[in-house]
Amino acid sequence: MNKTHGLAVIACLGGVAVAGSSMMARAQGQPPPDRPAVTVRGQTYTPRSILARNMGTDADQTSQFPPHKVIGNIYYVGTRTLSAFLVTTPQGHILINTTYERNVPVLEKSVSDLGFKFPDIRIVLATHAHGDHQEGDALVKQRTGAQVMVMAEDVPAVQNIKPGGKDHPVDRVLRDGDTVSLGGTTLVAHLTAGHTRGCTTWTTRVQEGGRGYNVVFHCSLRAPGKISPAVEAEFNRTLKVVRELPCDVPLGDHPAQYNMHAKHARLQSGGANPFVDAENCDLETDIQEAMFKAGLEEQAKAVP
Ligand SMILES: [Zn+2]
Repeated sequence: MNKTHGLAVIACLGGVAVAGSSMMARAQGQPPPDRPAVTVRGQTYTPRSILARNMGTDADQTSQFPPHKVIGNIYYVGTRTLSAFLVTTPQGHILINTTYERNVPVLEKSVSDLGFKFPDIRIVLATHAHGDHQEGDALVKQRTGAQVMVMAEDVPAVQNIKPGGKDHPVDRVLRDGDTVSLGGTTLVAHLTAGHTRGCTTWTTRVQEGGRGYNVVFHCSLRAPGKISPAVEAEFNRTLKVVRELPCDVPLGDHPAQYNMHAKHARLQSGGANPFVDAENCDLETDIQEAMFKAGLEEQAKAVP
């Protein structure tokens, strides 16, 4: 495990226990308590179960998941637990999330396995400024010449992601509501801050089988272990914003956020597209909102 990798995991998943009690437990040589626990639609989640679900093992984070078409011109090219999406157009492609720098060859192979050319990537977008989603940006730019576009509020954090000391490219700074267009496809950037200051949810419309679908590339909604008043305000706004987005196809920056593995298995059966799943568009939001509220309650109780 290299240094950047370790730091990135801490960045994305560090807030998994309420700070005060966990520090005390660690001082006594015990693991920090795994709480709060919340139950959403019959399933119970804890900080550690969400960590395990999102990240899996080191091998899960770096192993190719079978690349596949999601819907319309959207393809999955990420690893078993770190999402990367290719949006193809006749004028080149858009890549959403590069994951770790060492995964770039895995992404390249997935793009090529699908019959597309990696150097045809023109634009790199991101969900948020954590290493497990954006560490590969500089290398992808090196190999493709793509423009890297980042939400303004995430620029300071993304510029701190410098694998091997490389400067992190930022070719265009985005604002809430900005659009990115290429070859007839338009993506809209929605600021959904909380997990990071510039966490970005991307939306687009695709056509398949003669009808249109709203696709939502969700940003992580997991609250940090210690929720500051500023982050609390960000989440209160964000949770409303994401619930109001028109959605037929929910996607996420970790496959577990949209149950990708089970849906992918159903692709083989040849029935309706399993990624069209409007009834579960808010499932991940429900889970993370419950964790956020339970975290705030624990935090309030911890105050003497
Ligand atoms: Zn993260």
